[in-house]
Amino acid sequence: MLAPPVSDVLGNSAALCDAVLRLRGPALIAELGRIARSVLDSPDGEYRPGPADGMAGGGDGCALVQDVRYEQQSFGRFIVRGRAYGDADRRQLASLAALAASVLQVHSLAQRSTHAFVQVEAQLQHQSQILDQIHESVLTMDMGGFITSWNKGAERLFGYSAVEAVGRNILFLYDDEDAAFHDAFLEQGGRLMEVRRKKKSGEVFWASLSLSPLVDVHERSIGLIAYLTDITERKLAEERIHHLAYYDALTGLPNRTLLTKLVDQALTVAQRSKLHGCVLFIDLNRFKLINDTLGRKIGDALLCDVAQRFRAVLRDQDLVARLGGDEFAVGLFDISQHYEASMVAHKLLGALAEPFLIDGHDLRVGGSIGISVYPQDGADAETLLRLADIAMVRAKQGGDASDGDDHVAFYSQDMNQGMQERMRIETGLRHALGHGQLLLHYQPKFSISSGHIIGAEALVRWLHPERGLVPPAEFIPLAEATGLVVQVGEWVLEAACAQAQRWKQGGMAPIRLAVNVSAREFTSALPGRVAATLKRYGLEPAWLELEITESTLMHNIDRVIGIMDRITALGVTLSLDDFGTGYSSLSYLKRFPIDTLKIDRSFTTGIPGDANDCAIASTIISIAQQLKHKVIAEGVETLEQLAFLRQSGCDEVQGYLYSPPLPAAQFERALRENWTPVAPERAA
Ligand code: C2E
Ligand code: MG
Ligand code: MG
Repeated sequence: MLAPPVSDVLGNSAALCDAVLRLRGPALIAELGRIARSVLDSPDGEYRPGPADGMAGGGDGCALVQDVRYEQQSFGRFIVRGRAYGDADRRQLASLAALAASVLQVHSLAQRSTHAFVQVEAQLQHQSQILDQIHESVLTMDMGGFITSWNKGAERLFGYSAVEAVGRNILFLYDDEDAAFHDAFLEQGGRLMEVRRKKKSGEVFWASLSLSPLVDVHERSIGLIAYLTDITERKLAEERIHHLAYYDALTGLPNRTLLTKLVDQALTVAQRSKLHGCVLFIDLNRFKLINDTLGRKIGDALLCDVAQRFRAVLRDQDLVARLGGDEFAVGLFDISQHYEASMVAHKLLGALAEPFLIDGHDLRVGGSIGISVYPQDGADAETLLRLADIAMVRAKQGGDASDGDDHVAFYSQDMNQGMQERMRIETGLRHALGHGQLLLHYQPKFSISSGHIIGAEALVRWLHPERGLVPPAEFIPLAEATGLVVQVGEWVLEAACAQAQRWKQGGMAPIRLAVNVSAREFTSALPGRVAATLKRYGLEPAWLELEITESTLMHNIDRVIGIMDRITALGVTLSLDDFGTGYSSLSYLKRFPIDTLKIDRSFTTGIPGDANDCAIASTIISIAQQLKHKVIAEGVETLEQLAFLRQSGCDEVQGYLYSPPLPAAQFERALRENWTPVAPERAA
């Protein structure tokens, strides 16, 4: 048999490839059958897909059967009939089957991998759909914090699209305050935390953040996955709950629970810094009556006003709480003396003194205050509150109150007595100021070289109707604590200038009268007051000197120097009293426009026996010489002291060796007689 022409073979091969690529199912089966018939030029032939069914190759004489198989894979078989077939036909059909098998095999492989690719793509699509569907915002970042993916939740939460966010550093989402914690987050990968983040709109919100590590196929960390949820609502709710739990809903003040907590905390600090602390328990008087007769609404408004007034008279660091009903409590923690607590108590009662105008009613409430002190009375908030409550009840009964309406009592009886004593002095001193019970004594100051009086220190005394002459040490410190020292100081300046005027009019040559000025008087109003007083009495400024203590200089140096400059500009001199007992820095000392340094009496006392006191005194003298200040020693009682001071180069002395403080008339006599009780030569 002749071989078929080449174009036939090619045509059939092309038709075969085309059929396998384009057709499916019955159409493919029919076409493959048609090609078999055409190749063998046979009237009857077909392609039967599926595995072989026993009619293996070779045929039965009236039909040719050829498996279409590629290695182990059987696709089907060709069966042709209708004429007699020879070997050439059999080879033809085998070639066709081999070609068909190859093409079917390649096609099925291609299909399979296409299918796999589509599947992977679909899976990725599903995953990103899942990521986008979940409400949480999920983002990934690399080890440097640069964002590598950003889901829809993140877009919704932050307001940035994936295009805007991917590639930027995660830090751009941080609320500024939190930026510092960035590294901690990276270190704490996998932990859940609450953080503050910033939206595109600038709004800052609370988010719960959970971080888990992102790893590659080799389990190496390549970044982090972050899951964020907005928890601002919950945070706000928590804050509201916190507020409800710790604050009084009516007044907005801390409640008892918070007070107890804060007091206990503060006591721990006070313990370390060795400070006193105290709790004031305040109960309003007459509140129940107002509440019962005018109604709850007015009662509530009154409590709010009271809370406001209390807050206003206290310092920021003081604690005020409402315990319930008409009971309040105050915690003070940085007081150095417990009597300061009674001053605060009186300030609080003072805040109630003005009537409250509510709804057209003119309401008056008083208060009773009990005070307990840490550490004397108790070491914890509960105990202190309980004891302050007991003291308050005592105060209310009025048993402990010494002055009319104000009911204040310490829990400790000793402190009560101390407070009453101080209150007696304070009231007495106010009275003394208005009733001419204060007077001045003058202690002469002497020049060591000439032995002459060169001035005097005016020292205040209180001529008490029952107690006689009260020394200033018994009332000046209290007057300083209460602020009354300002009025005392005004009186002293006035009285000293009035005396100087009398001496001047009596023909006396000017001498310097030194007036002590306490720190509380040393305000910017002082220079003006000094100038006005001198003018009023027609005195030259050479008549006046102000003694200020080192402690005055310790706060706000520039302000103090400004005031000093204005005083010295008047021609009034300044001396630094009690020098050596404070902590003046030498570098500041040279900036102060001071005329004289006054060696404190405590150092003079030790001369010449105490080596330290001698060293201090001679050091002060040489500092004064270096800075071109005069130097005076106070409290000189013995000739030995005088000799040491003279030798060390001290200019002036003041002390009992020469003269105690004298009433004005005696001082005047001493001055007129140019009194030199100790011959300077003799003391040498
Ligand atoms: P100071 O300013 O250091 O006054 C010196 C004190 O030492 C005076 O006590 C004086 O009497 C006392 N004194 C003087 N020489 C001797 C002595 O040789 N031996 C002893 N043992 N004492 C001597 P005084 O008058 O009791 O005053 C005490 C303090 O009271 C004063 O200390 C001053 O700080 C304050 N003071 C007195 N008068 C006033 C005043 O008018 N205003 C202010 N703010 N404070 C005053
Ligand atoms: Mg003095
Ligand atoms: Mg002094």
